[in-house]
Amino acid sequence: MNDMTPRHARKAPATLRHPAELAAAGLVAPGDIAALEQVAARYAVALTPAMAALIDPADPRDPIAAQFVPAATELMITPEERADPIGDGAHEVSPGLIHRYPDRVLLKLVSSCAVYCRFCFRRETVGQGEGLSPAALDAALAYVGDHPGVSEVIVSGGDPLVASPRRLRDLVAALAAVPHVAVVRFHTRVPVVAPERVSDELIAALKADGIAIWVAIHANHPRELTDDAHAALARLVDAGIPLVSQTVLLRGVNDDAETLAELMRAFVRARVKPYYLHHADLAPGTARFRTTIAEGQSLMKALRGRVSGLAQPTYVLDIPGGHGKVPVGPNYLGDDTVEDYRGALHDYPNG
Ligand SMILES: *Cc1c(COP(=O)(O)O)cnc(C)c1O
Ligand code: SF4
Repeated sequence: MNDMTPRHARKAPATLRHPAELAAAGLVAPGDIAALEQVAARYAVALTPAMAALIDPADPRDPIAAQFVPAATELMITPEERADPIGDGAHEVSPGLIHRYPDRVLLKLVSSCAVYCRFCFRRETVGQGEGLSPAALDAALAYVGDHPGVSEVIVSGGDPLVASPRRLRDLVAALAAVPHVAVVRFHTRVPVVAPERVSDELIAALKADGIAIWVAIHANHPRELTDDAHAALARLVDAGIPLVSQTVLLRGVNDDAETLAELMRAFVRARVKPYYLHHADLAPGTARFRTTIAEGQSLMKALRGRVSGLAQPTYVLDIPGGHGKVPVGPNYLGDDTVEDYRGALHDYPNG
């Protein structure tokens, strides 16, 4: 290809899905292809052009590469790791529908994603199979219709925003028709990792009269919030869709105070309210990413002093076995003292 090539004849860069393609892009060593093919046979691989463009191939610790480029250590499972780390199976009431808390359900609409995160808590199921069949979706909608206590439906996956606008529009319309469902929340990485997919058609598909639509945006490093990602997030907010964030605390990616602070500030600039900082789940082959909870707490303390209240997420652990998410600190209150954001203790009659 040279400068004489007509623009329409140039192929748009494609998502990288095979170790050989990653090697051709300079992201893995050719000698590692065979070992990584074994990993890829077990856990899906996908790296979008937007994310591939952010990687510095010369940096062996690149925080974007760490999230998406497979590593041979993924086949090493530690004793505490589990195939279903957050206990989805314990509360699956219909195929693809998890009812863990009284007022909300989680629907796994699709099982594919635009990228595959190497630390994914659902890595044993994402990237395999077709997602929900029409019959399973009908059964899930019937369950929601039969449970008046359910006021919120969280649409997850996989990444629901890889579904076609037509499928999303039909789902939102079906949920809007249920009188007791007031809120639909989509959890997605698409606006950040494939911002070009956030089209007017997609945004229109997410909206319906009589129901509040929220979108939770997953991103883990400030570099992910490119100009294109900012523009995609602005299209959503300007369409009247409120955004919240979720981030996984990841060793080597965002486990230092300045990176986390910059990420949270970038969310706020993009009009995304920081919501959760997830302690990394015990997903198989992900030990290289996990910090201790004590490290997470000290990072949260550093954030408290450093950035606006708007930029503070809640640090949560999803308790293995399906017992739900709980905040895991830090805690500032002692028996008769309270700690300020600088770490100094003050008397406070707490009792
Ligand atoms: C995470 C999760 C939710 C949502 O929890 P929030 O605290 O409301 O964000 C709901 N159901 C299941 C099964 C979940 O895993
Ligand atoms: S986008 Fe979400 S569901 Fe998909 S691989 Fe990443 S963490 Fe898992």
